[in-house]
Amino acid sequence: MEVKIIIVTSLAIACVQAASPGSNWNYDESSNIGPANWGNIQGFEGCGTGTEQSPINIQASSATYRSYPPLNVTSNSGTGTFRLENDGIGPIGLPDASNINYLTGGPLGDRQYRLHNFHLHYGNSTYEASEHAFDNMRTSSEIHFVFYNNIYANISAALDSGDRDALAVIGILFSTSLDVSHAHPSIVSILNFFAPLTYPGDTTTEQLDFSTVLRPEDVSTFYTYNGSLTTPSCNEQVVWLVMSQIQYYPPTVIDSLSSLLTTNRTQPPVGIIGNTRPLQPLNSRTIYQNFQNPTMASTTSGSGLMNISLFVMLLSFIVASV
Ligand SMILES: [Zn+2]
Repeated sequence: MEVKIIIVTSLAIACVQAASPGSNWNYDESSNIGPANWGNIQGFEGCGTGTEQSPINIQASSATYRSYPPLNVTSNSGTGTFRLENDGIGPIGLPDASNINYLTGGPLGDRQYRLHNFHLHYGNSTYEASEHAFDNMRTSSEIHFVFYNNIYANISAALDSGDRDALAVIGILFSTSLDVSHAHPSIVSILNFFAPLTYPGDTTTEQLDFSTVLRPEDVSTFYTYNGSLTTPSCNEQVVWLVMSQIQYYPPTVIDSLSSLLTTNRTQPPVGIIGNTRPLQPLNSRTIYQNFQNPTMASTTSGSGLMNISLFVMLLSFIVASV
């Protein structure tokens, strides 16, 4: 089995670009600069000492219902220019300066957050490498849409502010399906655009209608919690919005990204695949959800008593029926 070593020295920012110039870190769990040791790297101490880190396992039965206004994604034009790139850490899409997309609603309320990038953490059709997990199950990939509070000039200023809610990130977990009618058309197109971007620095420019990438139905039900960047320096400044609906693509689409490399043409090839941080402890945080569970919802201790009451009633009915 090939030993996987990803060394990241690029100044390009994978997730939210908090890595400082010249920093070295990777996703190799056996490395002294791998995820378990990120907190030992100068400038990344928060990755080890933080108590509100991401990603996490989302245990559906323990999430608490809370009413929120709907999430709302808007663009300044129907179609905008995105630079799609292999930045050595992952496939990433960056809107150009005139391509402005906002997120409001949910726990953000009236605050307006601006899209900085979207990027992918991934495995393949047999390797589950989403960052978040639902009930301890990961899926093959997770797309992150990174937004920053528009009161700041850019994402660096947002992070420098120290604001707990400086960033909002939408995470959508993806899995494979052979039924193409289940596939998300725009995401399939974007992943196909990424597939030829073999080497770090390879780019392509595409015109995308962002309203078809994050459709209203894609952001209707979500979990939300206070967390962090999932890459160094792991700043605890992210309002996470993890969509409860898993989305789909054909297995060939995600498998085609196995060709993307974190190494350049002169180095032995090492794939980007597996650019995923291990799950972090929830600690004392509460995960909220904006939807009522269809049956036996347990959102408060009181409803637990109600569930017992329902059980007794049901038992009584069964006994009476026999
Ligand atoms: Zn990410």
